[in-house]
Amino acid sequence: MKKIVVLGSTGSIGTQTLDVVRSNSDMEVVALAAGSNIKLLEAQIREFKPCMVCVWDEEKAKELRILVRDCQVEITTGMEGLLACSVIEEADIVLTAIVGMIGIQPTIAAIKAKKDIALANKETLVTAGHIIMPLAQEYNVKILPVDSEHSAIFQALNGENYSRISKILLTASGGPFRGKTTEQLKKVTLEDALKHPNWSMGRKITIDSATMVNKGLEVIEAKWLFGVGFDQIEVVVQPKSIIHSMVEFVDGGVIAQLGTPDMKLPIQYALTYPDRRILEGERLDFKTLSNIAFETPDYNTFKGLSLAYEAGRLGGSMPTVYNAANERAVAKFLNREITFLEIYEIIEDAIQSHHKVDNPSVSEILQIEAQTYERIESKFHV
Ligand code: NAD
Ligand code: MG
Repeated sequence: MKKIVVLGSTGSIGTQTLDVVRSNSDMEVVALAAGSNIKLLEAQIREFKPCMVCVWDEEKAKELRILVRDCQVEITTGMEGLLACSVIEEADIVLTAIVGMIGIQPTIAAIKAKKDIALANKETLVTAGHIIMPLAQEYNVKILPVDSEHSAIFQALNGENYSRISKILLTASGGPFRGKTTEQLKKVTLEDALKHPNWSMGRKITIDSATMVNKGLEVIEAKWLFGVGFDQIEVVVQPKSIIHSMVEFVDGGVIAQLGTPDMKLPIQYALTYPDRRILEGERLDFKTLSNIAFETPDYNTFKGLSLAYEAGRLGGSMPTVYNAANERAVAKFLNREITFLEIYEIIEDAIQSHHKVDNPSVSEILQIEAQTYERIESKFHV
């Protein structure tokens, strides 16, 4: 039995993870965590029978305790609850699918408790990769990528010597606004930004895909996961999301991973690695795939990507500032407080005003996150 903790079980990745568990009889859920959707949590508790569940919202946790009083489950709350779920004795692997930097501490706790990590929560690696990767090595735990591009790279690197990587070709769909000019982006609405052409995902990452900040975060994520430099990571736009990413080796050979856009494949691969299992679903039909086109990203218009390279190359606490500014800006955009292009303005301003701290500790990262939020609130409050 593979015993799994799912952090963020009511979200897009979380529910698809539970679909994977449902179709693999040797997988068992031992703990779940979510923000506030207690109706869905109740259904998940009744179906998967975890021994512990965390609800971030304290009031909702109280309500859930009443709803499931007939079940054998401990309901915890807040960061304390998230940490308790992450280190639960029974677990082999923790799948991190909560959104944002809130994932840092649970991920660190899980590693210290010797749990493997199936990592969807990219913000954690972007801001604390310099802490997470050495810690995973020290505790001899695996960090298995769930992000589709990083899973593709991980699959392409199976059995390869990482020092023979020439470059990583990180594919991007370009999002719903591919081809648009800055002038056209001035007028886009929240509804336009929430329409991703190929993937159905949570709201934050969907906006990140429209700004191409998602690809920027993925560039930094790839640096940490595969130990390459930023000059070795090239973003290639492949609008149909059929090639999920590629690796070019020193001999010029390129290995790519292809498939239909279905997150269940990377989720299942992370949970069964190094095994591959049957996964029902659509297959690629090469007879109808006449046109796999490639483009260069538009770095000038989609500044989210160029700012990520800038923050990543500066290193230290800059990726934290990039990520924190984006998290707050996206929350404001989702709340209709700012326009689409103001997301870039907020990130750029945060990077420019920050004095970099080298090798920030977890508490420094969290402090810098708070300072970044404060600056945004005082400067961009509407
Ligand atoms: P989502 O918004 O659909 O789900 C987020 C989940 O986290 C929900 O269950 C929510 O209740 C929970 N959550 C949020 N704040 C919480 C808190 N403070 N405490 C406990 N639980 C909390 O998001 P998603 O699209 O599933 O994305 C999750 C993560 O995976 C993100 O980091 C995203 O970048 C990454 N990711 C997602 C996809 C995708 O296809 N959706 C692909 C690659 C990577
Ligand atoms: Mg991705």
